[in-house]
Amino acid sequence: MIVAQQKPLEEIRQMVRGFRRLLVLGCGTCTTVCFAGGEKEVGLLSTSLRSVLGQEIEIEEAVVQRQCEWEFLDQVGEAVGRAEAVLSLGCGVGVQGIGERYPGVVALPGLNTAFMGLTEAPGIWGERCMACGDCLLHRTGGICPVARCAKSLLNGPCGGVQDGHCEISVDNPCAWVLIYDRLTQQGRVEQLEEIIPARDWKASHSGGPRRIVRPDLRDMVGEEV
Ligand code: SF4
Ligand code: SF4
Repeated sequence: MIVAQQKPLEEIRQMVRGFRRLLVLGCGTCTTVCFAGGEKEVGLLSTSLRSVLGQEIEIEEAVVQRQCEWEFLDQVGEAVGRAEAVLSLGCGVGVQGIGERYPGVVALPGLNTAFMGLTEAPGIWGERCMACGDCLLHRTGGICPVARCAKSLLNGPCGGVQDGHCEISVDNPCAWVLIYDRLTQQGRVEQLEEIIPARDWKASHSGGPRRIVRPDLRDMVGEEV
């Protein structure tokens, strides 16, 4: 899931100042699961904003299943139409989705989008993927060195590993120790003898936003690629 955290109330208060009608819009998928932007958080934040802003602002509340798809954003068209600004409790994609679908309204981010990760334990989330565009999990025992090694080393560990921990932070296990242990457990440790070639990071991460176009799906809806 995409993991996010609510911005400090004071930052949000400054952001919404001057607007008279605000829609606080939650997202029913990732940010609900990480307790940052679901129905409960929409209610709590709206109550807090009403108490600090008083009569200055009229606040409406809504939640859509996903802010990153038009079909769900279309369901709140009337509520968006009544608002001067929409405070999104979705991820950064959701905020931009609102802006693209409703360009006449000001879309504001109520959350800080952090990473793609897993719930490790109640109240603890950890990063697992950086969307590098060239997944190598089949070579690393299903553990991502791009996201989980502090240096994104493709052939680790580095000399900084200490007692299984990363030199950058003792709170983090070394990703390459995790990979070694997992491959050992699976009886596939010889996999580590294969050197993973250097990547062309420039090719995968430059040139602006990435897109995926599926000609087969475009064909199905009768539209050109
Ligand atoms: S290698 Fe890591 S960062 Fe890249 S796609 Fe796979 S999990 Fe994500
Ligand atoms: S100690 Fe391990 S996780 Fe930390 S930077 Fe070195 S190889 Fe990466």
